[in-house]
Amino acid sequence: MWGWLEMLKNDCFALPPGVDWTPVPEALDALRDRMTPVTAVETRGLDDALGRVLAEDAIARRSTPPADNAAVDGYALAHGSLSAQGTQSLALLDGRAAAGAPFAGKVPPGHALRILTGAVMPAGTDCVVMQEDVEAANGRISFGSGLKPGANRRRGGEDIESGATAITAGRILTPADLAQAASVGLATLAVHRPLRVAVFSTGDELCDPADDPAPGAIFDANRPMLSGLLRAQGFTVIDKGRVPDNAAAIRAALTEAVCHADAVVTSGGASGGDEDHIARELTALGAMTEWRVAMKPGRPLALGQIGQVPVFGLPGNPVAAFVCFLIFARPALLRLAGAEWPDLPRFPLTMTGPAKKRAGRTEYLRGRVLPGGQVEKFRSEGSGLISGLRWSDGLIELAHDRGRVEAGETVDFIPYSAFGL
Ligand code: AMP
Ligand code: MG
Repeated sequence: MWGWLEMLKNDCFALPPGVDWTPVPEALDALRDRMTPVTAVETRGLDDALGRVLAEDAIARRSTPPADNAAVDGYALAHGSLSAQGTQSLALLDGRAAAGAPFAGKVPPGHALRILTGAVMPAGTDCVVMQEDVEAANGRISFGSGLKPGANRRRGGEDIESGATAITAGRILTPADLAQAASVGLATLAVHRPLRVAVFSTGDELCDPADDPAPGAIFDANRPMLSGLLRAQGFTVIDKGRVPDNAAAIRAALTEAVCHADAVVTSGGASGGDEDHIARELTALGAMTEWRVAMKPGRPLALGQIGQVPVFGLPGNPVAAFVCFLIFARPALLRLAGAEWPDLPRFPLTMTGPAKKRAGRTEYLRGRVLPGGQVEKFRSEGSGLISGLRWSDGLIELAHDRGRVEAGETVDFIPYSAFGL
């Protein structure tokens, strides 16, 4: 299934009879099986760890919370001191328990002690009555019945127990993870060095947006887009510029890129045409597999390896490059970076209008979410319309076996936020 197959010249989205184009889920499974982390591990303080991939499980040095403590301001007491009904009245003990200043003594039965949020529960108490519910006078407090056992008490270790795995390796560290690490007494974490990804665009027609374009030239839109997509995943981008459609130049660019990078992402020249040198040079330089995946937008992807460095040859059309990057290159690169394989959330939304769809391939449309759980598709499927990428909030995914979609039908929606965008 992954070997060379005859390329279709006229309609690259057609499914040739008798030849299997690999369904997207199968292609992803294959990719998932092949990628393993390639980046070195280093120790970083919490200030430097945001967005990094955790390389080893983070084990709690202490429980959090470290001890039972008060969830509210009020009075700590033993539930056993209360009667089932009627007004409750307890003697108020001298002193108090505050966060960082625990009460040293024991609270006897029939007594209560002033306590503030976060204070360790004093010996002899197991619940807290909120100060708003209490009247205090003449050295006593009184309040209504019905306080539950353990009320307003946070249990020691209820978040994480000492010795437990606080954060699992492979996690891309979020601000919440940093809080969790600190809460269990971890000041440093073992993280992967960021993945270094070289990126270049191919095409004789390409020029820089600052250039005066020659007739027939177009501005290189893919490089800033792909660099941005890569940076959004926490990777370090090595910008290798533009490379003309010329076998020697492409070969030199690939050879150079793999010296400095953990992975290479290119756009353009990836299918089997006369000027599609990426595929040809990848074949010459290393292992190259033409990925004929049954998806739209997309063309054969040139996935290859030069030495230990994987190369992702994406299509030149900006929309196809964007979608192929997100669906295939992103999860593979994240695995190389040490992260868990990122399974994507898919939200069921209702289509506002119909969509043409051919069974036998997965199709991705640019979709915008409307109030009430509806999603609208972009006015055109044109693979060069970058405005549709900006207009949309995410991708509508029409599954492999599905045919034409009518207005009102439910579709899967993957928000760009799921890709960290
Ligand atoms: P290719 O995959 O090289 O056949 O390119 C397909 C289409 O995408 C052609 O119309 C190219 O001009 C266009 N294209 C290729 N690379 C870029 C790029 N970096 N920025 C914008 N458009 C591109
Ligand atoms: Mg080209």
